[in-house]
Amino acid sequence: MKVLVINSGSSSIKYQLINMEDESVLALGLVERIGIEGSRLEQELANGEEFEIKKDIPDHSIGMELVINTLTDEDKGVIGDINEIVAVGHRVVHGGEYFDKSVIIDNDVKKKIEECAKLAPLHNPANLMGIEVCERLISNAKQVATFDSAFHQSMPQEVYTYALPYEFYEKYRVRRYGFHGTSHQFVAQEVAKKLDKDIKDLKIITCHLGNGASITAVDGGESLDTSMGLTPLEGLVMGTRCGDIDPAIVPFIMEKEDLSPEEMDYLMNNKSGFLGISGVSSDSRDIEDAAADGNERAQLAIDMFAYRVKKYIGAYTAAMNGIDALVFTAGIGENAIGLREDICNSLDFLGIKVDVQRNDVRGKFTQISPDESRVKVFVVPTNEELVIARDTKDLIG
Ligand code: ADP
Repeated sequence: MKVLVINSGSSSIKYQLINMEDESVLALGLVERIGIEGSRLEQELANGEEFEIKKDIPDHSIGMELVINTLTDEDKGVIGDINEIVAVGHRVVHGGEYFDKSVIIDNDVKKKIEECAKLAPLHNPANLMGIEVCERLISNAKQVATFDSAFHQSMPQEVYTYALPYEFYEKYRVRRYGFHGTSHQFVAQEVAKKLDKDIKDLKIITCHLGNGASITAVDGGESLDTSMGLTPLEGLVMGTRCGDIDPAIVPFIMEKEDLSPEEMDYLMNNKSGFLGISGVSSDSRDIEDAAADGNERAQLAIDMFAYRVKKYIGAYTAAMNGIDALVFTAGIGENAIGLREDICNSLDFLGIKVDVQRNDVRGKFTQISPDESRVKVFVVPTNEELVIARDTKDLIG
């Protein structure tokens, strides 16, 4: 049984074709720069063979056609016929309060995804576009949606409610939702398996540290709290996002700089974080290099990032009344050795220790805490596509 996993963005389509017999990836690829100059598709096969097709891709429909043609191509393809794709699993960012798990897509589901676009205007319309294109082009396959926000629907009311007038929750559903749910859930489950324990008996803190970053308290297998909120802007310091700030700063800067709400939103989402603090880059590798060269603001960005992750670890340990395991995942979490050390440094009062030699690892499932550490610390490569594919397979039976 073959499942195609689609992550449709505003100008890109990421895809993976997965053979669910053994969960092997047959092909993975990316269509990027849709609708702008320089559009292209790149694909990698299981044997490591890579290739690129450069051509005009004006919209998602043409982009998806190219994906299908590439997958079924006589020379470079991996399947003979499009009907071999039994189901398509779509990543959808915001499921609001409607979805606490993956679902088979029908008109009602699409309507709800569209409604949630108010809360995720950059993501949900692009996700929906991917769904509609696949419904048309791969019409024999069942379509399934997996939501970034679903895992966090278990958060209790006192955790997800903002201390604003309650009517804004009633009128607009303004509350905390949280994101990266598939990733937090996946790495927490992987760690429970590794520890050979029932996840219901574990208190795990998962740090998904990528360009976008969030941290979750997974208590007994459920999300108790997570750092992102109504949108993916709240919480940690990120590549270009500010994370937590005093909300009074927003009207203050808008007034001083004569900014519109859209401009202020853009500033907080795209000009802040690593980029805004350092003035160097949004990429943690550039920041680490600049800091090593003596750039003080780059060092400040690193220190702020590590400090805030540490602060959340402390807060979530308190929220769960304990911690058994700490997990690092995503681009920075899996690769940034020094940052992991900075974060865990001086958390020994909580029983968190890191072994410098074990921590010298990138992108491999590894226990980086010494054996005597009360809290087990892990690096776990995330695999959101696999979660989507598994959910899709389960749903279509
Ligand atoms: P997203 O999916 O949110 O775009 P990723 O999970 O791909 O983000 O993470 C991107 C971040 O991971 C970047 O800041 C990048 O610098 C960092 N990263 C990726 N590889 C490495 C590496 N080898 N060393 C340090 N940081 C890395």
